[in-house]
Amino acid sequence: MANRRDTLCVQAGWNPKKGESRQMPIVQSTTFKYETSEQMGKLFDLEESGYFYTRLQNPTNDNVAAKIAALEGGVAAMLTSSGQAANFFAVFNICETGGHVISASNIYGGTFNLLGVTLPKMGIEVTFIDENASDEEINAAFRPNTKLVFGETISNPGVTVFDIERFANIAHSHGVPLIVDNTFATPVNCRPFEFGADIVTHSTTKYMDGHGLAVGGCVVDSGNFDWDRYADKFPGLCSPDPSYHGLTYTKAFGKGAYITKATVQLMRDLGAIQAPQNAFYLNIGLQSLHVRMAKHCSNALKVAEYLRDNEHIAWINYPDLDTDSQYEKKKKYLPNGSCGVMAFGLKGGREFSIKFMDSLKLINIATHVADCHSCVLHPASHTHRQLSEQQLIDAGISPDLIRLSVGIEDADDLIEDIEQAIAEACK
Ligand SMILES: *Cc1c(COP(=O)(O)O)cnc(C)c1O
Repeated sequence: MANRRDTLCVQAGWNPKKGESRQMPIVQSTTFKYETSEQMGKLFDLEESGYFYTRLQNPTNDNVAAKIAALEGGVAAMLTSSGQAANFFAVFNICETGGHVISASNIYGGTFNLLGVTLPKMGIEVTFIDENASDEEINAAFRPNTKLVFGETISNPGVTVFDIERFANIAHSHGVPLIVDNTFATPVNCRPFEFGADIVTHSTTKYMDGHGLAVGGCVVDSGNFDWDRYADKFPGLCSPDPSYHGLTYTKAFGKGAYITKATVQLMRDLGAIQAPQNAFYLNIGLQSLHVRMAKHCSNALKVAEYLRDNEHIAWINYPDLDTDSQYEKKKKYLPNGSCGVMAFGLKGGREFSIKFMDSLKLINIATHVADCHSCVLHPASHTHRQLSEQQLIDAGISPDLIRLSVGIEDADDLIEDIEQAIAEACK
C-alpha cells in the first residue's frame, strides 16, 4: 500500500466501499441512533466506541483527523474549533492548576496571550525563554511542577525555525513532552515527530484549509511519550477519572490515552468542536496541500530574493534565503522549503511602510496568513497591538516588521505589485 505524503494528502482518512461516495462525506447530524439503551450506556461508560453526540465525536471530523494523524505520522488526532482551542487543549490536557509551562518566546501573538495571560488565571505558571538560550539556561527554567515545553516549528510572525531536536532532548531529560505548533510548516514540509516532538498542534485555518474558508484546529499525538513512566507528573492520564467510574486513560487506551482523554473529557466539558461542515472544507484543502505548499515556497523564494536585493529594504527574514540566519536550521528541518510567509522592514520608517502597504493592489491587507491569496500585515499596529514595545521585541517582532504571506498567484505579478507600491511610497 502506497503511503507517501502526497498520496496521504489526497486519500488518507476515507476509504469508500462499494457504492459509497468518492469524496469524504459530511455527516451533518448532532446525534446517532442505537437499538437498546444498554448499547447507549456502554458508549457513555467508554466500554464500547461509537458515535452518540457530535460534541464528542463525529465521523467527518474523525476521518479528517485521521488524515492529519497519518500525515504527521502520529497515532491519533482530534479536530478543534480553532488553532487557539487546539493549543489550549493540548496544554490543559496535561497541565492543570499548579502546573508550569516552558515556552519559546518567539510564538504567535494569540498563543503568547493564551500562555502568558489566560493560563495564569487558571493557576498555570509560564516561563518564556529565548530559543537561542544555552542548554544550561533552558535547563535552569525547569521546576518540579513543569509539565511541558512548547514552541512553533516556524514562528508567526518572526519566521524563526525552532530547533525541535534540541528542545525535545531537553524536555525529555526532565521527563516532560515537547508540544510543537506545526501550523506554518505543515506536515508536508516538516514532521516534528521525526525530530522527537511528542504532540503537534495546528491552526488548520492556515495552509491546511488554504483558501481562507474556515477557522479550525487540530491536536495530534505521536503516541511516543511514556506517561506512566512519569505518572506522578501526569495524574490526569495515569490515575482514575471519577467522571468515568474511575477509568485510567493510559491503562484503558494505551497509546491512544492522550487524544482519548482530550476528546472524552475536555471536549465533552468545554465543547470547542470543529463543525463537520468546516471539517469537510478542511479535507478539500488537505487534498491539494502538497501541491500548494510547493508553489507557496517557490513563489516566496522569488519574492524574498527580490526584496533582499531591493535598496528600500532594511532587512528581511525568510528561512529559505541562503543568507538568512535560520538557513542552517531550515536545511535540517525544512529541506523542501519552509512556507510562504516572510517578514521584512522598509527603510524610511513607519509612514513609508504604511504608504507602501496602502499602495499594494494585488496583495491585500488582511489579518490572515497562509492561504492562496497573498496578503500583508503590520503586526505592531494589527495582530500584536496589545503587546508592549519590549514584549514585541521579546516575541521577535521589531516595530517596523511587515509580514508578507505569499500566495499561489504568479510570482512576477506579486513582484511588480511590490515594485509599484515602493515607487508610490517614495513619492
Ligand atoms: C493562527 C495561528 C494560531 C491560532 O489559530 P486560529 O485558528 O486563528 O485560532 C495558532 N498558532 C499559529 C502558529 C498560528 O499561525
